[in-house]
Amino acid sequence: MPIRQLSETMINQIAAGEVIERPASVVKELVENALDAGATRVEVVTSGGGLNLIRVTDDGSGIPEKELPLAIGRHCTSKLADNIDDIRSLGFRGEALPSIGSVSRLSIRSRTASGDSAAEIGIEGGRVLPVRPAAANRGTTVEVRDLFFATPARLKFMKGERAESAATSDVVKRIAIAFPAVRFTLAGSDRSTLELPATEDSAQGSLRRIAQVMGSDFPDNSIAIDATREGVRLTGHVSIPSFTRANALQQYAYVNGRPVRDKLIAGAIRGAYADVLPRDRHAVTVLFLKLDPAIVDVNVHPAKADVRFRDPGLVRGLIVGSIRQALADAGIRAATTGAAGMMAAFRPGATAYQHGGPANGHRSYEAAHRASGFAVYEQYRSPQWPLDMGFGGSGFGDNEQAAFDAGALASADARAGQDEATETLLGAVLGAARAQVHENYIVAQTRDSLIIVDQHAAHERLVYEALKNALHSRAVPSQILLLPEIVDLPEEDAERLAMHSETLARFGLGIERFGPGAVAVRETPSILGETNVGQLVRDLADEIADNDTVETLKERLDKIAATMACHGSVRSGRRLKAEEMNALLRQMEATPGSGTCNHGRPTYIELKLADIERLFGRR
Ligand code: ADP
Ligand code: MG
Repeated sequence: MPIRQLSETMINQIAAGEVIERPASVVKELVENALDAGATRVEVVTSGGGLNLIRVTDDGSGIPEKELPLAIGRHCTSKLADNIDDIRSLGFRGEALPSIGSVSRLSIRSRTASGDSAAEIGIEGGRVLPVRPAAANRGTTVEVRDLFFATPARLKFMKGERAESAATSDVVKRIAIAFPAVRFTLAGSDRSTLELPATEDSAQGSLRRIAQVMGSDFPDNSIAIDATREGVRLTGHVSIPSFTRANALQQYAYVNGRPVRDKLIAGAIRGAYADVLPRDRHAVTVLFLKLDPAIVDVNVHPAKADVRFRDPGLVRGLIVGSIRQALADAGIRAATTGAAGMMAAFRPGATAYQHGGPANGHRSYEAAHRASGFAVYEQYRSPQWPLDMGFGGSGFGDNEQAAFDAGALASADARAGQDEATETLLGAVLGAARAQVHENYIVAQTRDSLIIVDQHAAHERLVYEALKNALHSRAVPSQILLLPEIVDLPEEDAERLAMHSETLARFGLGIERFGPGAVAVRETPSILGETNVGQLVRDLADEIADNDTVETLKERLDKIAATMACHGSVRSGRRLKAEEMNALLRQMEATPGSGTCNHGRPTYIELKLADIERLFGRR
């Protein structure tokens, strides 16, 4: 076959292959057009999963009659002058309408504010029908019938009406979150009508729209984010660590109002929650990034859901940093409500008793709870254990290392004197360790209370304090790696790390450039023991990217210490021996601030024996 120029229709059908994957993609393109036209009301109707009918009606600017033939022409757009770096609309490629028109029966009826009447144009499988007068209010109605009738191969790939209409709902909800001031309705024989009344274009309006779409339990269980770095602004809401999903589908991200599915953003969210969520759980997030259109490329794929940032490290750092910060700030709140939550958690036992046993004649458990006041210990609680056991001033010495180190205390001597020792320990603030449950909680006993310690949180705090203390006296001891570890990472991150190599060296982290997009790690801080060097270096890069411009040196050092501490701590899931548990308790007593972890959550909770007795109706 000789080479020949493809027909206009063929070109459009080829483009449709990428832009119009399924009915939901048509809905996405048409709704985007309505929003670009400044609509305040957008109504979507579908039937047959969108394969029979898709109709999108808006009250936007409308299309002048003489421009209707252009609207369905390939590469015809009113949104792009001559600067591809300055895209402020959702559309810009001028190919949605001709693509849709090449694979379906499309009609556009429109009227502008100044037009005396409406006009209509049609295109069926690429064949353009003449413009004719029509009756309509201001705005545009686009109707798509028999989608893919002209491309039967694509039709075969449709998943069935239900799946297609679900995908359409998802598209409308996703975009509606970014336009709270626009009223959306989604109706038709495919579903019961979904109505999203207009709220306002403000933080509160946005949150109300989020609640309309995601349900009101999300706002109740989320934290607001608002941070700016180097002209990039991040706003939105992220779930508290106890509010999670089994997949990442409930993570909505927007770049300059455009819904995107971006690996970098997803990765940053994962990174931000890495220390507070198990691997198989996912946060629920709605994040809006606003930045100069010149530093983000949206022209990556015809569907426009992919973006590329000029400085990915900056964006990642911003997301990781501000989510972590928000979680830390909220952690203190959660901690104060922790005691109440704990009491509530105990209540079902009492309720069961009331149901099953003699309900009358028993004291009100409610009242008992209110009177008891479980104590959640926080920073204000000063350590009563002699301070010189700790890291105070002397740097991070061998003894302290040994305390973290499993075997050291499990000597024969220690075991021989155990009973005596236990008796003494009962007098200590955190008492004598009795058991470890669920591989993360140390249950200890004092003379008059039961203590529950979150071992991961506690250990993290101790490492953090030790690092900070050691820093003030002298450099942190490091261990030299037998083979330097080469870590690949974005060039900006490598550059940032290199710029801060002196600071990092003070922490015992020996790092240097290793060609473009990589660093070589030669030494790591001894206190961290065996650690995942790649992960540590990447987290530090995030931390530095986030704090580069604003933090003082001291704050930066503390943040670096905190990031390192996360890597050095006993993860939950490690079984501890009695000696190890007791060593941890003693370290906690000796360390100021150890009542809360680096994220502000309590590291331990104390239940007074008297309260426990009240719970059981013994008092
Ligand atoms: P793009 O959105 O990339 O410009 P489209 O093919 O989706 O390309 O639309 C072509 C043009 O038709 C748009 O640039 C716009 O001028 C006009 N248009 C399409 N839909 C609407 C609408 N709902 N209201 C007003 N104008 C519209
Ligand atoms: Mg468009």
